[in-house]
Amino acid sequence: MDCEPVVVVPIPCREDPDRMEMLRAHHSDILRCRKCEDAGLLWEAHPVAGGRATARVLVVGQAPGLRTMLSGKHFSGPGGKLLREWIARGGVPHEAQDSQVYFASLTRCFPGPAPKGGAGDLRPSAAEVALCRPYLDREFELLDPPLVLLVGGMAIERYLVKAPLNQVVGELVERDGRHWLPLPHPSGVSRWLNTPANAALVDVGLERMRRLTASWPPSEGAADHPS
Ligand code: SF4
Repeated sequence: MDCEPVVVVPIPCREDPDRMEMLRAHHSDILRCRKCEDAGLLWEAHPVAGGRATARVLVVGQAPGLRTMLSGKHFSGPGGKLLREWIARGGVPHEAQDSQVYFASLTRCFPGPAPKGGAGDLRPSAAEVALCRPYLDREFELLDPPLVLLVGGMAIERYLVKAPLNQVVGELVERDGRHWLPLPHPSGVSRWLNTPANAALVDVGLERMRRLTASWPPSEGAADHPS
C-alpha cells in the first residue's frame, strides 16, 4: 500500500481551564458509575478513568482487562507496552504520551475472563456498550481529538466499518473533521499480528500517523496535571 499525502485537520486549543475541570468531573462520574451492576450485566462494576485535557490522540479500545482494572490505568497489560511502542513510532514519543494521548475504551469495566478454554477476556455485551456510550461521547466532545486510534475489531466496527482487519489496518481515514487510524489489538491473544503481511499493514498505518503528527504544531499544555 502506498502512502498518500495526509490532509491536515486544524488542531483546536487544548489549554482551556474549564475543559480541564469538566474532564475531571467526567472522570468522577465514570468512577462512581454502577449502571451495569445495577442492570445485572456485571457482577461488580469497577470503572477505569483518567487522562489529560491536553491530549491530541484519543485511543479507543474494547474494554479494560484484569490488569487495567487492578491498576486503574488503561492498557496496563503486556499489549499496552506494544501499543505505546506503536504510538511512539507514529510520532508521539513515550515521554509525551502522558500529556498527548488519552486512553479510553468502549466500556470502562472489566467484563470478565473468557469462558473456560477460551483465550483473552469476554467481549462486553451490546447492552454494556450502550450503557457506557455516553462517557465516550462526552470525551469526544471535551477533547475534540484530531486523531483517534481504533484498537481492535469492536472499536473499528463501532466508528468506521465492519470488515476483516486486513482490509482496514494500514488506512488513515479522514472523517467528521478528524483522522481515524484502525489498529489490531496488540495483546498476544490475537495471532493476526504473527503474519508478516499483517504486521506490514500496521507499519503502513503507523507511517501515515507519523506523517500526520509531524504536520501538527508543537504541543501545548505541559503544565496540565493528570486527573
Ligand atoms: S461499563 Fe461503563 S456503564 Fe457499565 S458500569 Fe462500567 S462505567 Fe458504568
